[in-house]
Amino acid sequence: MQRKLDLRTGRTVWSAYRAPAVPQEALARDLSADVVVVGMGIGGALAADALSLAGLSVVAIDRRGAVKGSTAATTALVQYEIDQPLCLLSRRIGKERAMRAWRRSRLAVGNLKARILERQIACDLAERPSLYLAGDVLGAEALEEEAELRGAAGLAASFLPRAAVRETYGMDRAALRSQGNLALDPRKLTAGLLLRARERGARFFSPVEAVRFASHADGVAVETKAGPVLSARYVLLATGYELMDFVPAKNHRIISTWAFATARQPAALWKDRALVWEASDPYLYFRATHDGRVICGGEDEDFSDEAQRDALIAEKTERIAGKLKALLPAVDTRPTFAWSGSFGTTTTGLPYVGAVPRRPRIFAVMGYGGNGITYAEIAAELVTAAILGHADPDADLFAF
Ligand SMILES: Cc1cc2nc3c(=O)[nH]c(=O)nc-3n(C[C@H](O)[C@H](O)[C@H](O)COP(=O)(O)OP(=O)(O)OC[C@H]3O[C@@H](n4cnc5c(N)ncnc54)[C@H](O)[C@@H]3O)c2cc1C
Repeated sequence: MQRKLDLRTGRTVWSAYRAPAVPQEALARDLSADVVVVGMGIGGALAADALSLAGLSVVAIDRRGAVKGSTAATTALVQYEIDQPLCLLSRRIGKERAMRAWRRSRLAVGNLKARILERQIACDLAERPSLYLAGDVLGAEALEEEAELRGAAGLAASFLPRAAVRETYGMDRAALRSQGNLALDPRKLTAGLLLRARERGARFFSPVEAVRFASHADGVAVETKAGPVLSARYVLLATGYELMDFVPAKNHRIISTWAFATARQPAALWKDRALVWEASDPYLYFRATHDGRVICGGEDEDFSDEAQRDALIAEKTERIAGKLKALLPAVDTRPTFAWSGSFGTTTTGLPYVGAVPRRPRIFAVMGYGGNGITYAEIAAELVTAAILGHADPDADLFAF
């Protein structure tokens, strides 16, 4: 059993751009594959790409259809700089593990870029610097310490005093600047990855809902709501924030978030179109699209009621737009698109990825949070390695 969430509401900015169609079949009879992937968002798509490239046969299913879940709502700041600053994560899980999690995220963003270039996926990919602005979680002094700690972990970031940020970016705050993060169109990327996997023989079926998983010694039978059974050596649950009830969810909670996007205004944008986020709770974050719209989000709240979330779209949009205007008065903050979404997080901010306890042939990814795309790349790498029988040195960081 699984609770079905209303993952997003409103018109997202990505509806302004055309993503390629992903052919999906109706499931009329039983099938078998090396791996059945449940979910065709960015998580399922990256896994389908990695698994099919490794020579495994893949069948992916989705009860809504490809790219119809949270992936259509993401603001797609693809950062190796994860939500938990290195200094705070070190206090929670220890310095060595925190540094390893940060380095793995850095590696994942590089690997994702390489994957996109290698497969020639047209997804408006751009490498962007990022600015992490001083806020109520880390002030200017704490940001300087964060820069030092990152340096010690091999992750270069420069501390910019307030005057320097004002001068260069027009924002009146101290900040950490780092290089090598990505901006992209998540629907184009997800569809592109699925199409590449399809060229290697992967098959996609929707709408198909997985309802039960019967594990046996050398495989899993996935029962679908409409009847046909999918047999696989392994299953990957890439179901986003909707977890099957046997996936441990102790440290997982669903929160609500809001975002909006403006009309195109390339002349009003800040230097280098850096990805910007604040060291605050809740934090404001923003980026630009390839054609000059501003996408801005934040105001996360710790509740999961979807009606309450959606009723707040207008109020939250106004609040987020006001914060953006205060920071960048030259930007036109009138919303052209506004939407809300649900969002799964964990207590450490790190996702859980790996075999489900007592079900060694079923892998799950859980709790993606604000770095869902970076973590989906890590998950695709870890799960593919585990299925191929390769040890991944960071598997312990994310294991259930
Ligand atoms: C407003 C917002 C802003 C965000 N901003 C960022 C950001 O800037 N950067 C970032 O990295 N991340 C961000 N995220 C997070 C990121 O969008 C998500 O982590 C990511 O899209 C999750 O992808 P997914 O494939 O795991 O889930 P989804 O895209 O939700 O895909 C899961 C799929 O599984 C299917 N499914 C579920 N259960 C079943 C079942 N039983 N049978 C069949 N199919 C099933 C669903 O229908 C769904 O299509 C943001 C999220 C939101 C909502």
